[in-house]
Amino acid sequence: MTDDAIHALREHLAVVSDLGHAGMLLHWDQQTHMPARGAQARGQAGGTLERLAHERIADPVLADLLDAAEAAGEDPGLVRAVREDHAQAARVPAELVGEMAEVAAEAQGAWEAARAASDFAAFAPFLRRHVDLCRRYAACFPEAEHPYDALMQRYEPGATTASVRAAFAQLREGLVPLIAAIAAKPDPGDLTGPFPTADQRTLALEIARTMGYDDAAWRIDEAAHPFMANMGREDVRITTKEEEESTLAIGLFGVLHETGHGLYEAGIDPRWDRTTVGTGTSLGVHESQSRLWENMVGRSRAQWSRWLPRAKELFPVPLDGLEVDEVLRRINAVRPSLIRVDADEATYCLHVLLRFELEVALFEGELEVDDLPAAWNARMEEYLGVTVPSDADGVLQDIHWAHGVFGYFPTYALGTMIAAQLWEAAHVAIPDLDTRIADGDLATLREWLREHVHRHGRTRTGDEILRDVTGGGLDPVPLLRYLNDKYGALYDL
Ligand code: ZN
Repeated sequence: MTDDAIHALREHLAVVSDLGHAGMLLHWDQQTHMPARGAQARGQAGGTLERLAHERIADPVLADLLDAAEAAGEDPGLVRAVREDHAQAARVPAELVGEMAEVAAEAQGAWEAARAASDFAAFAPFLRRHVDLCRRYAACFPEAEHPYDALMQRYEPGATTASVRAAFAQLREGLVPLIAAIAAKPDPGDLTGPFPTADQRTLALEIARTMGYDDAAWRIDEAAHPFMANMGREDVRITTKEEEESTLAIGLFGVLHETGHGLYEAGIDPRWDRTTVGTGTSLGVHESQSRLWENMVGRSRAQWSRWLPRAKELFPVPLDGLEVDEVLRRINAVRPSLIRVDADEATYCLHVLLRFELEVALFEGELEVDDLPAAWNARMEEYLGVTVPSDADGVLQDIHWAHGVFGYFPTYALGTMIAAQLWEAAHVAIPDLDTRIADGDLATLREWLREHVHRHGRTRTGDEILRDVTGGGLDPVPLLRYLNDKYGALYDL
């Protein structure tokens, strides 16, 4: 009897999980192989899968299945997560969900054209519609303290506007003087190619395999905007962009980033297979994994002590005569710049803070859509000392607002903070971690992350994971400590 109740719930969730994998595969194919004119049919097919999954999560029968399975001893973390999904899906009318998807589909093309012409006014009507729809979405959760809380819940369960605002304010206070101190120092210059792309792939995959990339369960392809997609634990697909040969930004560091995302999904406990909790617990925690491997490991002295000799075999000309110290200074150069995705570790979070503040102001009614470009440009000047030459390089640079995903941006900075908290905790738990990384051992760190973060899937919240590992919640101090230590040494501050 009790096993039957758990079995019935799992059967219900298995269908949602399978629909999700099918949708993910459609998405992966669209970004890597699909001919351009397939977009319309693909959009329809993807929309159908999403609708079917949504109906099954909103289905009133799920509430009964959850009650029975809980009484029969189903895992409390699974019950909590699925109950929240059900409550959320049941609250939002299907027609609102459909309308949000429609506007997102229309706005994508409008955003592309507006960015190409640097014409914010052409995009503003779509943005106004998104803001209206998101207001209606937030109104489905009248108990939320702040309308923006309801929007963030979709990506970072448990995060509140008040807590994020406080953490970001503390972060900004620490970052602005650090960046100013670095700006007063000589620029270290760039690590410039040629880095032939095939050799970049060789180096990136050698490192990724050391991290845990498994050729029998992973693959790598090219995409215009690199991402990771997985269909369960044993079909993990990362993507990279074949760039010009002048930089290692995407071909090496981007691959480490996506491999970090993939290790999270691959490390989830098999007991959560074919449930809706067998995936990362939030976007912030997911981003903590990618940024930890890309930056904290990937740009560290320990890592380059191990890999510089191999890199010199592959790229003898550009790396000729360069020692680890010089390579580190160049791959960690700090330069306030216009574009978030190209930003260094010190300035990155300020790009995210700016977007968070503008989004909150929109939903508080303090800012109108038409005022966004001016507000954007003023903050870029204030936080980074950068003058924005055009809306294409400013307010129109990211695709997120075309998709209407307000509440998403903060997860990038939350993930960076969480990464530093985990990185600090890993060094306490594994005192010789840097020596191990310098010896080419990346498995010890991966297994520690699997034990404390990956295996839980969504059965633990990001907050529960942090409290288990660090004894406290979200905290910007470890990130500030990490950045001050790192750049203090590199720039002789
Ligand atoms: Zn990422």
